[in-house]
Amino acid sequence: MDHQHYMSQALALAREAAQAGEVPVGCVIVRAGVVVGRGRNRREEKRSALSHAETEAIRQANAALGSWRLEDCALYVTLEPCCMCAGACLNARLERVVYGAADPLAGCLGSRIDLFRMELEGAPPPRILGGVLEEDCAALLREFFLLQRRRAPAGVPPVSRPTRPSALLW
Ligand SMILES: [Zn+2]
Repeated sequence: MDHQHYMSQALALAREAAQAGEVPVGCVIVRAGVVVGRGRNRREEKRSALSHAETEAIRQANAALGSWRLEDCALYVTLEPCCMCAGACLNARLERVVYGAADPLAGCLGSRIDLFRMELEGAPPPRILGGVLEEDCAALLREFFLLQRRRAPAGVPPVSRPTRPSALLW
């Protein structure tokens, strides 16, 4: 499986999110070499805390395959999933989750916590692979937040993540 190839497609969606003013996170879901779900962050557009790249891609893949089970699918996402999305990956029974940049603040595949240590109804958790095109994924986030900070008027805190306890990765 060409992880970089699919992560590049997720990155293209993340760039699309950045252009729309959203925190740049993109996601694709692949089954037998075919992309069956695509998503990008649309939290601002939908005004919904549920509209992360992964949830959007999972919803699309469920519809495309006519099943809530994505057992033979791999999910590629540019940023380590949050607790909601890691939970959704478990619930969807994904075979594998591949991410780009780690998220020391909210990443739930080992950075902050490892949600996949939880066994769900005896099903094996998805396998994890992190750090695929990590620098490209992290750079996109870094640039986005840098621009946000520059655009914010003086005295007004910028949107989303104003400060990070760890800015080591992005
Ligand atoms: Zn999420």
